[in-house]
Parts: sequence; structure tokens; C-alpha cells
Amino acid sequence: MLIVMRSDATEDQVEQVLDLVRQLGFKGHSMPGASRTAIGITGNPGPLDPGQFEDLPGVAEAIRVTKPYKLVGRDLKHDNTVIRIGDAEIGGAEPAIIAGPCAVESLDQTMEIAEVVASCGVPFFRGGAFKPRTSPYAFQGLGEEGLRILDKVRDRFGLKIVTEVLDPENVDLVERYADVLQIGARNMQNFSLLKRLGHARKPVLLKRGLSATLDEMLLAAEYVMSEGNYNVILCERGVRTFADHTRNTLDLSIVPAVQNLSHLPIIVDPSHGTGRRDKVIPLARASIAVGANGVMVEVHNHPELALSDGPQALLPEMFVQLVREIRDIHKVIAEAELNAAANG
Ligand code: PEP
Ligand code: MN
Repeated sequence: MLIVMRSDATEDQVEQVLDLVRQLGFKGHSMPGASRTAIGITGNPGPLDPGQFEDLPGVAEAIRVTKPYKLVGRDLKHDNTVIRIGDAEIGGAEPAIIAGPCAVESLDQTMEIAEVVASCGVPFFRGGAFKPRTSPYAFQGLGEEGLRILDKVRDRFGLKIVTEVLDPENVDLVERYADVLQIGARNMQNFSLLKRLGHARKPVLLKRGLSATLDEMLLAAEYVMSEGNYNVILCERGVRTFADHTRNTLDLSIVPAVQNLSHLPIIVDPSHGTGRRDKVIPLARASIAVGANGVMVEVHNHPELALSDGPQALLPEMFVQLVREIRDIHKVIAEAELNAAANG
């Protein structure tokens, strides 16, 4: 059930609706929008009687939600969600760029790459301290030492830190160091991790599962939101197909599909999406052109020595070039959208 408040409804009236939801034993999620607040109700095992809400002051209407998800959908919140992280944002007017190595390998490696990222005026730095590797014998990440290095990156360059959390037990630890908590593709349907991150105070970057459908990705985001963390960013990173000219098949068509259904921001990771350095720039360009809210790319100062994902890492000079291109392409797309809107 979705309760739409009148545009002149007061905070007390919103609170009154939330009180009734609580008395009934359910959970109310208040989502303020530009023109009105809507309240999503979760935890009810069956349909609710709309009349009991419509009688309350300030309520415009109570609507049954027919989609499998309630909180991620545009029915609840029409306006795009903008995630604010300090003075940076994801989902706002400018495309967000998140860049850095696949894994934090050492202080020197991380600082050198962070310097390149910061020099481009890019606000977000990525780097894994806990790495989900196919082989148990491959480099698993530096763990807390890696997080401490990321802390130094934030201190030195003012970059916001995006880093992966692999399991529920480590959320407290990773949250102390991260600005954005990444859920990797392999964990997109790790439901206990999703629920735990629903109680985190930091935004969550949710990567699409290796073979996840659009609905499965949206429902994974719903898990996080249903526990009370509404700051979720979706990330397309390619899915498994028969194609073997790339590591994964980057599904850019999911960007407008998500934007149609959901108010959440969606970014694209062309590094894991292609697995090959020479394909990252073309697909990053396309990601911005298709309307993604940003890109996440891997960059390494010595990719030939990288402990993970070297073949897909951009060289520093390639990254500098890409940032310029992203800004140029975004300008053209924003102008085209304005023209389209003006022409009806
Ligand atoms: C990563 O971003 O480093 C990563 C492991 O990505 P994914 O979960 O998409 O494979
Ligand atoms: Mn990687």
C-alpha cells in the first residue's frame, strides 16, 4: 500500500499516518518528493483496507501497489533520488565518476593512483580491501590495512571512498572507513548482507548480479530499502552471455529500463563489463550517452603488475582523457534532452 499525502499536508499529519502503520504492526517509509510526500507500507502479509488511511487528515489517496517492489518504484517517488555524500552527489545534474584500482595493494600504489583521480577533479575513489576472488589462492585484499590506506586517501586528497563489503560480519568495520558501501555482483542476492546494509548509515552501491534480471536487481535494492536505508545506487557491470570477445556483456539497455521503473540512480562499470582496457573508453562514452548517472572505472599505474584485473585497468593518461570526454558527452546529451523537452 502506498499513501499519497496532499501537497499541503503537515509533518504532524505524516506522523499520524506513520503512527497508524506502526499500530497495525507494519513499517512505514516516508519519501518526501518535490510536490508531495508519499508513504510506502511494508511488512503487511496481505492487502490493507485503503479506507482506514484515506480517512486521516492530509491524506490524498491510498493506492494498492501491484508491482513486486514498493520502495524502489516511481509510483512511490516520482522524482529522481539524488544521493548526497558530503559535497558530492550521485544522481544529480552532473555524471558521477568513481575511479581507482580494482584492489588496494600498497600505500604507494594507492596514493599514486589517487593523485591522478584527484587531479581530474573527480570526487570518488574506489579500491577493494576485501576482494571476492574466483580462486581461494588469488589475492584476497589487504583487509583492514587496505581500509586504513583508503582513509589516508580521503585525508590527503579529500576523495570519497567507495569500497566493497563482502559479508555481514564486516559491515561495522568497513562502514567506519567507507563513504559508500559496495555490494559486489556475486553478493547481489546475499539477502542477509542486503538486510544488514539496510541498517547501515552509509549509501550502498549495488552491483548487478552475474545473471540477474532487472526485477531481481530492483528487488535486491528493495531489500536494503525495506530495512530503512534509502540511499541505494544501482550499477550495471555486465552479465554472463555466450560472447567471448569480452569478459561480460555490458547491458546498457538496462539504464533506461531502470530509469523508467525506479527513482534510484544507476551508474555503469565498463571495466568489469568488458574486461579489456581498449573497450573501456568506448563503453564509458556510451554509458554517458545512454543517460547513466555516472561511471565506475578501474585505473592502475602499473597494470602489468596489478594483483587483480590488470587487463581491464585504464592507464592514468587514458583516464585523464576519459574524464574530459565524459564531460563533453554529458554536455551534448543534457542539451539534447533540453531540446527534446522544449519540443514536447
Ligand atoms: C569490483 O568492483 O572490484 C568487483 C569485484 O566487481 P563485480 O562485483 O562487479 O565483479
Ligand atoms: Mn575488479
